[in-house]
Amino acid sequence: MKTIGLIGGMSWESSAVYYRIINSKVKEILGGYHCAKSVLLTVDFDLIQKLQFEENWAELDKVMVKAAKQLENAGADFIILCTNTMHLCSPAIVKNITIPFLHIAEATGTRISELGLKKVALLGTRFTMEKDFYKTYLIEHFGIQVITPDKSERDFINGTIYNELVHGLIKTESREKFKKIIKELEKQGAEGVILGCTEIPLLISKNDVEIPVLDTTQIHAEKAVSKALE
Ligand code: GLU
Repeated sequence: MKTIGLIGGMSWESSAVYYRIINSKVKEILGGYHCAKSVLLTVDFDLIQKLQFEENWAELDKVMVKAAKQLENAGADFIILCTNTMHLCSPAIVKNITIPFLHIAEATGTRISELGLKKVALLGTRFTMEKDFYKTYLIEHFGIQVITPDKSERDFINGTIYNELVHGLIKTESREKFKKIIKELEKQGAEGVILGCTEIPLLISKNDVEIPVLDTTQIHAEKAVSKALE
């Protein structure tokens, strides 16, 4: 079994979910007393969040590269970055490590293609919804059409992530608003919805939505397990 290197802490609420999925999946597959071989490095989200809001991506690149190198030195065989947003730094990470990096949009795009979906809605932080790195990845690598909610809804989703979900606050009224937003995107032709922020699955599950739900935390964590057991 390979050792999974996880860059976590963005936020730790979702890193905890990754940890649980990865270990329970390995146990489910191998049985007995098995669990995943892993190294988890947790960065301090306070710093990350400040740098994000200053749009200081050069400094964020440095923090992510440092974390990835620490994991490589600690014996990780490959790395997963447990956040969609911070994949903005993935080119810098890939350039500075010698072990493989498992991109979250690669795992998600593969799942979307397996489901045969052509047009999907993307929910995430404003960085993920508004910058090009994530949408472009899905378009260029998988030919998937990606739509996002309008500005006021994007602001609401972003606010819910940073003011509630990363603090572990799960509010019914926010869930209801998310459901309405997804319904609207469905009317615009979305055949599935990407929960493109690793905390959104704390709020929304497939039971809340009629179209297929792409839970990036689950998909990414399961992909890591497949790679570890290859
Ligand atoms: N976990 C989140 C994501 O998947 C947001 C937190 C962050 O800014 O990294 O995008």
